[in-house]
Amino acid sequence: MRATALNHQDNAGAEAARLLQDMGLAPPDSGPALTSPIDGSGMPGIASIDVAGVRAAIAQSVTAFHEWRSVPPPIRGELVRRLGAELRTHKDALGRLVTIEMGKPISEGLGEVQEMIDICDFAVGLSRQLHGLTIASERPSHHMREMWHPLGPVGIISAFNFPVAVWAWNAALALICGDSILWKPSEKTPLSAYAAHGLLNRAIADFDQAPRNLSQLLIGGREIGEVLVADPRVPLISATGSTAMGRSVGVRVAERFGRSLLELGGNAATIVGPSADLDLAVRAITFGAAGTTGQRCTTMRRLIVHDSIYDELIDRLKRAFASLPIGDPRDPAMLIGPMIDARALQSVERAIDRARTDGGVVTGGEKRGGLYVGPAIVEMPAQTSIVREETFAPILYTLRYNDLHEAIAILRDVPQGLSSSIITTDLREAETFLSATGSDCGIANVNMGTSGAEIGGAFGGEKETGGGRESGSDAWRAYMRRQTQNVNYGRDLPLAQGVVFDV
Ligand code: NAD
Repeated sequence: MRATALNHQDNAGAEAARLLQDMGLAPPDSGPALTSPIDGSGMPGIASIDVAGVRAAIAQSVTAFHEWRSVPPPIRGELVRRLGAELRTHKDALGRLVTIEMGKPISEGLGEVQEMIDICDFAVGLSRQLHGLTIASERPSHHMREMWHPLGPVGIISAFNFPVAVWAWNAALALICGDSILWKPSEKTPLSAYAAHGLLNRAIADFDQAPRNLSQLLIGGREIGEVLVADPRVPLISATGSTAMGRSVGVRVAERFGRSLLELGGNAATIVGPSADLDLAVRAITFGAAGTTGQRCTTMRRLIVHDSIYDELIDRLKRAFASLPIGDPRDPAMLIGPMIDARALQSVERAIDRARTDGGVVTGGEKRGGLYVGPAIVEMPAQTSIVREETFAPILYTLRYNDLHEAIAILRDVPQGLSSSIITTDLREAETFLSATGSDCGIANVNMGTSGAEIGGAFGGEKETGGGRESGSDAWRAYMRRQTQNVNYGRDLPLAQGVVFDV
């Protein structure tokens, strides 16, 4: 049985029901009971869709796409602007609901909704900038240009740890690109999804140019995601979750020549050089490793520290970790909330046991009742197999190095490639880390941690992280199809490469 939270506030489940009301949303059709990781209290359950329902939803999504693709992009942007307005109005309620369902501290719950607002703003501007290239033609009186067209229904599969923001990254871009959307949220966080989708539905209902079923929510488990993944009517599957999930999804989508955008597991590392500002390092590492109770794909899991500062830094980190307030994440004073479920809690124990067997020396990581656990620092003699795996928990493995190239080799020697950072005041070290021979990750930071990305940059990683890019920069292109167009405005028919075919 889950123990009660460490400090006393209202029952989390009852508050979740109230928050839905505050957002003006009807209670969901009741489904299997859900419990908040904060205190184990019951929340409104949501009924799952069945396989036939998913197939029908895909058919409706195709019909909606056929209308939406002809709506001019800036008008599509207006719908996303209205979604952003709904989110601004209900930021507090949705942020609290995320906290109650997922367990992240309230400032991070609110931050998640802010991220949704930010991507809406970004997408609104982008709706006037979906531009291709014009390209010089070798043929006289010819134009060549690239045109970006809407793609079709986009299937979005999301993970529990960012239950709504990752959907918004995809939804805001897909909508301005002229696509309809189908969202299969994590089975662990359906309530936040129900609320976020309810806000979009409200914006759609008030928007004349938006077709019915432009966006649909598919509540259910992995089997529901599998139906979406297998269906050729869904040209793009954007899937966020574990590498195991991506390995299955990537293959299945490829088999039907669909497109997949995969955002999978990470195993972020930070190198701390001999010249590092240690005050800054302690703050960056503590948030990077222990923030969100280690349940971010960009969570710092490996710390590679120069031998000359290792003892001092690790000592300071142990004190910083021990001082972190752990408890009900609705209390703004708490920086560490619960793990998502009992399985996640067990994964901490299992990983720590394996690390000990490999010679690791553990500080912290003790259970605190319920689903709460203290963050752990594990000093490792080498990067053994447990360190090379992603354990989705607040465990920081530390390693020593003497030479920067050795540190970079350790950083790269894992299957994942999402995020990385270096803390140094030495320009040569920083630039080496950022060079082609440096970090091999999709994200490389200097003098900061590995998590907390802004929406303006393209987000994603290499290797087993899946290779996808979402959110800012030119990530929108994944949601459109590119057409190369050639126009002959002359009277002759010259052929490219000087080919002659006179008739
Ligand atoms: P998970 O893989 O268990 O589930 C993610 C989603 O995939 C869920 O909606 C689940 O129902 C669905 N799913 C699982 N197997 C599927 C299949 N075969 N076909 C279709 N759908 C399937 O992941 P989780 O525990 O919810 O989230 C944690 C993981 O997500 C971590 O590995 C974390 O690193 C990763 N993550 C990555 C990013 C990123 O941007 N790279 C962001 C957030 C989380």
